[in-house]
Amino acid sequence: MHNYKISLDYIQATEQQHLEGSFYFFEDGNLVIFGSSDDYFSKVDALDITKLDQVGSPLYIGSYSENLYFAQELKPGTAERLGLETIHLRAIGAEDELSFAMMGRAVQLINWRHNHRFCGKCGGDTKPSLTVHAMRCEQCDSSFYPKIMPCVMALVVRGDECLLATHHGRASSRYTALAGFIEAGESAEHAIYREVLEEVGVKTGNLLYFSSQAWPFPGQLMLAFYAEYLEGEIKPDEEEISDARWFKLSDLPEIPPSYTISGKLIRTLAEAKIS
Ligand SMILES: [Zn+2]
Repeated sequence: MHNYKISLDYIQATEQQHLEGSFYFFEDGNLVIFGSSDDYFSKVDALDITKLDQVGSPLYIGSYSENLYFAQELKPGTAERLGLETIHLRAIGAEDELSFAMMGRAVQLINWRHNHRFCGKCGGDTKPSLTVHAMRCEQCDSSFYPKIMPCVMALVVRGDECLLATHHGRASSRYTALAGFIEAGESAEHAIYREVLEEVGVKTGNLLYFSSQAWPFPGQLMLAFYAEYLEGEIKPDEEEISDARWFKLSDLPEIPPSYTISGKLIRTLAEAKIS
């Protein structure tokens, strides 16, 4: 559980000239590192941000330990011009879950603002609201909020075994739990029954909710469950799944890292069954 605060009280602060707090800088979705790599953010009092090629105004992300955090997007090529390194969010998640959660929020807000510069209803220009995280149309007053896409993840369990799969087109050959997007009009439960049946041809029931995680690639909310196996032989959907099989919880293959919800979902059950 992350204990940083997402209060909206400070949104107006991003319109002020002098911001006090810590900044995450992003270029093309990657974090730009100022100083040492174990200190991901840059204090404004130590940095003249007017020298950086910025895109739009800073975005307020939240507060932690009395400190305010902001995100600022930089123009492509800025890091290279200044001789700075960039790092992908996944590499940060492995080291620091709190930073991963805050930066994930930052990247989602930056993407949202990028993608809603114009109104989808009338085509007018939008401006950030000063009271809520919304882009508001200046012509027709429509509001556009950050887009969050709910997804389900299911670890199918049969006795002391669980069903794990590998997917085409992924760099890693790790085995993981099944997952998919919730369709319009569908409940989380139905999405799980449908996804598991489509992906591996197996019927499931008796869901047990585990936990959720915001996953900023680009804006999923992952809802993770355990699902009891009911019937059917594994028949992988060959378009998506390269391999799917039962694994003993005491003898698992390489699985996702423990900062990911899939890694937590699988490890938690394995540890409970073994101990
Ligand atoms: Zn409009």
